[in-house]
Amino acid sequence: MKKHCADSVRPPRVTIHTLGCAKNAVDSETLAGLVKQAGFDYVEKLAQADVVVVNTCGFIDDAKVESVHVLLESVRWKQARKGRRVFAMGCLTQRDGDEIKNEIPELDRVFGIGEWTEMLEALGANPLSVAQSTDATLYSGKAGPGSAYLRISDGCSHACAFCAIPQMRGLYRSEPMEKLVEEAKLLARTGVRELLIIGQETTSYGVDIYRKRTLVELCNRLSDIVGIEWIRILYAHPPSAPPQLMRELARVPKLTPYIDFPIEHASEKILKLMNRKTTAAKMRDSIEAFRAEFPDSCVRTTVLVGFPGETDEDFRELYEFMENEKFERAGVFTYSPQDGTAGGDLPNRVEEGVALERLDLLMKLQRNICRTKHQSLIGRTIPVIVERNVRENSWGRSAWDAPDIDARVRIVGLHAPGVLHQVKITGAAAYQLDGICESANVETRSHTCGSFALPVLSH
Ligand code: SF4
Repeated sequence: MKKHCADSVRPPRVTIHTLGCAKNAVDSETLAGLVKQAGFDYVEKLAQADVVVVNTCGFIDDAKVESVHVLLESVRWKQARKGRRVFAMGCLTQRDGDEIKNEIPELDRVFGIGEWTEMLEALGANPLSVAQSTDATLYSGKAGPGSAYLRISDGCSHACAFCAIPQMRGLYRSEPMEKLVEEAKLLARTGVRELLIIGQETTSYGVDIYRKRTLVELCNRLSDIVGIEWIRILYAHPPSAPPQLMRELARVPKLTPYIDFPIEHASEKILKLMNRKTTAAKMRDSIEAFRAEFPDSCVRTTVLVGFPGETDEDFRELYEFMENEKFERAGVFTYSPQDGTAGGDLPNRVEEGVALERLDLLMKLQRNICRTKHQSLIGRTIPVIVERNVRENSWGRSAWDAPDIDARVRIVGLHAPGVLHQVKITGAAAYQLDGICESANVETRSHTCGSFALPVLSH
């Protein structure tokens, strides 16, 4: 029985356009789940929808521009047929909702983060069913066949000088461990093999509700779940990830040989200006602790160039750090000032051209590092999760690769998506591996997932 009480003949068909990061994708999944639970039709395609909800991102200037562009496109879509509606939600509207409403008055409704009840009511849901629906606060976003994001926390209690996330998402809030374990069991029963652990930062998990960092305990419990093969940690926060924590994480039985460890910079002066509360030496110790405990692992990082005050000498320190650490994966961004952040008020802005030159230099360095690391894998057999089939090949990800942000593996022939396959690497480029499948459609052993380069998943 439909739970909404709209007096129209047919309930609205709703679709969601998601922008930004994996955390936003989880919000969209949450909304999609609530929409279905409230009795509305959720559709994938805009052409089939009556209502589009644009889940905006406000992280950096480019993301804001893209969000506004999608909102304007959606307004054009709305104007093409009577009865269509456009809602906006997400990080950008959380912070700049009034401005967005003024700038784009054609939007039907603008919501902040987590305003699920208001959104469902705006769709026409019965207030009583809404109260029940919004009780289901935890949905994990699908990251692709066989993979799902498990959001373990929201918000952030740090104050990095370049980041407006705490203003948009509020203080750090961990999800209770029991709830997460139940959610992961449910996901495993639906065929999920890989859990991607996300939050605005994940290494502080538990500090608010358990008064200590409990990410290791959580991951150990997730490792016990039958069916889960890979646990991948994204968004570690270097100041909250001392060497001991990195060692303990590396020992989690099903942890992928991968950690996302965004250093942002390596110059002491810039780290201080960024309010990162760590040093290059401390971060090096943490990285080394993880690598020592988990040989053959991938450390992914993110860096920001062109922060106010960054001199050639500061950049040289960052370049050398990247050159020495040889991160298996890295993303490089240029700084753009965000309203209400400490960085926005700092003097000594770096010219855009200079920042772009620095970005190019780091990307060139990183391309060479990635190519060399990939070439060392030729002839080895590694586990790969297949994501899709395109013409005569399958495409997937190795244990070194998170969805959307890292490299891809092309496998000759067609293989079952959502399943881990053993793949012998035959070719390597900077951002792609090529291989042939050695064990088609075979699920991995039930326990450890371990060392990247071993044919048997154990470490
Ligand atoms: S840890 Fe820093 S960069 Fe990450 S969300 Fe919090 S304030 Fe932003």
